[in-house]
Amino acid sequence: MAFMVTDDCALCMACIEECPNEAITEGDNKVVIDPAKCTECVGFYAAQKCAEVCPSGACVPDPNQKEDEAALMAKYQALHPGRAPTKD
Ligand code: SF4
Repeated sequence: MAFMVTDDCALCMACIEECPNEAITEGDNKVVIDPAKCTECVGFYAAQKCAEVCPSGACVPDPNQKEDEAALMAKYQALHPGRAPTKD
């Protein structure tokens, strides 16, 4: 499932640069994750970068955006045609 940002976001912006899919943008009171671009970092990293760097624990799985690994990989491939997936 895609990740989402809760109201605990302190707008520190740490996550924006870390997202390999450029899925995170600044909103009014918190940053916002575009579920069409979030692959849960599938294709790039073994763990979700935004959740790793968030000091507030505000980046969490979105229960309304449930996707399995295959769906996330398909999204990755659509976003990055021709790029071989990596995982650190
Ligand atoms: Fe970006 Fe990964 Fe966070 Fe999704 S889980 S918003 S792809 S950093």
